[in-house]
Amino acid sequence: MNFAPEPTTPTTPVSVPPHPALALPPQPRLRFLGVPVASMPSLWAWPLVLSLMFVAGVMGWLVSKERADLEGQRAEMISDALSLEAQINNRLEGESARLRTVAELVNQRGLTADGFARHALVLDGLRRFWVSVTWLGADGRIVAHVPEDAVPYGSDARNLSDEAGMAGHLSVSLLGARSGLLVARYSAAALLRQKVPWWLASKYDIRLVDDADEVMAGTVDGPRLPQQAWYRVPMGPTMPQAWLELSARERITPWWRTLPVVLMAGFVLLVGVASHMLRKQMRSVSRAEEAWRTEAAWRTAMEDSLAVGIRARDLEGRLVYVNKTMADMVGYQPEELVGLLPPMPYWVPDELDQSMTRHRRNMAGQAPRDGYESRWQHRDGRLVEVMVFEAPLVDAKGIHIGWMASVVNITERKRMEERERKQLETMAHHARLTMLGEVASTLAHELNQPLTVIASYNAGVLNAMERQSDVDPQLLQALRRMGEQATQAGRIVKRIREFLTRREPQLEPSDLAPVVASGVALLKRDIQRHQVTVSVPDMRHLPQVMADPVLLEQVVVNLVRNACDALSDHEGEREVQVAAELTVDGRFIKLSFSDNGPGLGGRTVEALCAPFYSTKTEGMGMGLAICRSIVELHYGALDATQALIGGACFSFSLPVAGDDGSEDSA
Ligand code: ADP
Repeated sequence: MNFAPEPTTPTTPVSVPPHPALALPPQPRLRFLGVPVASMPSLWAWPLVLSLMFVAGVMGWLVSKERADLEGQRAEMISDALSLEAQINNRLEGESARLRTVAELVNQRGLTADGFARHALVLDGLRRFWVSVTWLGADGRIVAHVPEDAVPYGSDARNLSDEAGMAGHLSVSLLGARSGLLVARYSAAALLRQKVPWWLASKYDIRLVDDADEVMAGTVDGPRLPQQAWYRVPMGPTMPQAWLELSARERITPWWRTLPVVLMAGFVLLVGVASHMLRKQMRSVSRAEEAWRTEAAWRTAMEDSLAVGIRARDLEGRLVYVNKTMADMVGYQPEELVGLLPPMPYWVPDELDQSMTRHRRNMAGQAPRDGYESRWQHRDGRLVEVMVFEAPLVDAKGIHIGWMASVVNITERKRMEERERKQLETMAHHARLTMLGEVASTLAHELNQPLTVIASYNAGVLNAMERQSDVDPQLLQALRRMGEQATQAGRIVKRIREFLTRREPQLEPSDLAPVVASGVALLKRDIQRHQVTVSVPDMRHLPQVMADPVLLEQVVVNLVRNACDALSDHEGEREVQVAAELTVDGRFIKLSFSDNGPGLGGRTVEALCAPFYSTKTEGMGMGLAICRSIVELHYGALDATQALIGGACFSFSLPVAGDDGSEDSA
């Protein structure tokens, strides 16, 4: 059994989350549309899905718009093509009509070839539109050809190119006397140049193509680009086997190459990245929330299972948190206490002023570092003794936000201490009485002999004087009275001694272990004060002894106290070892108390046990004498020797119960 000083709780700042986080139980879960976020693992994907739906909608709109544009463009192109074709045909019709007029002149006026070549209508036609005019006879030979340097009709048409385009021709048959054929060649390119308005040319690439897809003439050089929208109309009888082709210059951009698509692609990309980051964030938030909830649950469980009450107050002294133990200690629910300001409902009504003073001291940060004792009142009215340890409460940023206290209920401990104190007092009283009895007994013993001697001498003197005749009878009377008084005094002393030694010890089968433990426990404070380690062996296996536990306890207390006193000036480890063993014959148990103090210094047990022998300034010198008397009353003997651990060893033996057949310890 070791008695070491009790550890004290250090008053170090307690770091906690910011003030609201103290309000356990846990906060409600994060929610979205009423559903806990933690149970919606795909919530992060919602913005992405909505964005994709939006993008799909915009794309659908773009596709339909592109189709509408294409159709509109096509309709417009058809209309423009038809209108241009009509204008060109009109023009060719007009030229045909003029050629017919020339043909009529040839028929009716009998123009010669020369006259034909110089005729105003022919010259006008050449100046205006025709490239050449050829008069073919009925046999197919050229009668006249104007201008002469022009390639005549009938040559390879592919060589009749003019102004970067092929030539077309108009022909009128000559009827009547001069049958044959009038053929007027014209430039298709010139035809287009004259008939295609500028706005149409800026809108379309316009070409005249033949059946073989050969471009006869066009407003632009080169073939049509594959991606251009185009439309062809046949040119009709004025230009058989020729087509008017319009290809749109303005290209309707495919929907997937428009700016909105590019923007939306960027938008989707950004939303994708944002969703990814959101997902990561939500996962870490979810993980953190789970960890926090676990931690909160742990903390609540731990705090609820603590035997120590915990109380947190803000700087004004308002209770911001109490654990269950603390609330139970004063008979309230935690919710009833949280938020209260002093005076607290558990303060003792008669001690409100002291409690308030103590509260102000604590709020000023001057609570004792090793804690302080306080008295509270339970809701049911009983008093609760508590030990409170205050510590500053700082938040995560290190800001002082209040005070945290751990509260230990010491009511039971206090009660035990009080009982111990009373027991010790009773014990001391008993010890004093015993000592007084012993002193009186010793005195009676010491006085008895002189009184007997006085009475004997008195009787001798009286006898001698009675034999003489001249003795003053008054002297004899005085001597007789003196003898009577001496005898009376002797009787009184004898009676006192008989009275004092009359008490027989109440011997009964007793366990040694509780007696020794109780004796040592009574000296707990001395042991702690002298910083002595007292080791007591396990004695439960030993048989019971015949002893008076109360008297035996006094012996234990005396011997342990003497050992502690002897160790008070000892440097280094201070030890007292208690040992108990059965004697070889098994009839006695020997109990010894050894210390590592200064030892006996050659003094015998007789000298030490002599009444009134003491080396202590305040010693009475009766302790060992009483011990020896008690031990002898138990039919044992007190002995003092040198201890194996260096100091003194006091030992005595006690009879094992049942050994004499009177009692059975079993
Ligand atoms: P008191 O304790 O009043 O002195 P005691 O009869 O108990 O009277 O002790 C008598 C003396 O015996 C003590 O003063 C002390 O000198 C000596 N003594 C007793 N126990 C020890 C011990 N364990 N070691 C050394 N001396 C001791």
